[in-house]
Amino acid sequence: MADHAQGPQIAAGETGAAADPDADQAAWLEAGRLLFARECRFTAAAQHASALPPPGLDEVAFAGRSNVGKSSLINALTGRKALARTSRTPGRTQELIFFNGGADLNIVDMPGYGYAAASKSKIAAWTDMIHNFLLGRTNLARVYVLIDARHGLKDTDNPTLDALGNAAVSHQIVLTKADAVRKSELASRIAEVEAALAKRPAAFPGVLVTSSEDGTGIPELRAAIARLLAERRK
Ligand code: GDP
Repeated sequence: MADHAQGPQIAAGETGAAADPDADQAAWLEAGRLLFARECRFTAAAQHASALPPPGLDEVAFAGRSNVGKSSLINALTGRKALARTSRTPGRTQELIFFNGGADLNIVDMPGYGYAAASKSKIAAWTDMIHNFLLGRTNLARVYVLIDARHGLKDTDNPTLDALGNAAVSHQIVLTKADAVRKSELASRIAEVEAALAKRPAAFPGVLVTSSEDGTGIPELRAAIARLLAERRK
């Protein structure tokens, strides 16, 4: 038991009703901390659908435009400084990268998109790869789509959100770089994203706000992942 991400609602029984929401969240935060306290290591990289590792453990994937802060967020979540390579050359890594985080979890770093200089053929190859990955990946618990809090949703995010919706893959928006915007700007960015998501029924409602720079929202994202995994095992 100790080796699995357990949470309060699962332990609370069938109803899932929390007697004390604060205590409930505290317990999920602890479950998230434990989940990501394990060593996380690189397991595979796939440039083509044919090279994908077979579906195994529950997976969460991270997607976003180049430079959105995806590598920094994966490193912050896993507590590793250089697990995911931060990109000096935007659009360079066109691979799906797989990490294992212990007995419960795989993490997938999806290739960054929206790099202005990317050729049409590169974009087509990327789209093809993502479609192939999303279809039939039954162990994929959720895709977190990262959006830069300074910029909000852009047209270049649409193909990814469309692909996720069409494949009916559970996905949720995570704002990155929250430290780089004022509180008032952050609030309007959240409202904008939530309004856009209302038109996308496959998207999980609610936006997670993070900063890899100052750690904002990192424990909460770990907790959300622990809870997601526990709910899948119910
Ligand atoms: P990726 O291309 O999506 O993997 O993005 P990176 O993690 O390489 O980050 C891109 C740039 O954004 C780098 O210059 C990072 O230092 C910066 N960055 C990443 N996360 C944060 C953050 O939380 N706050 C701020 N202010 N900058 C960040």
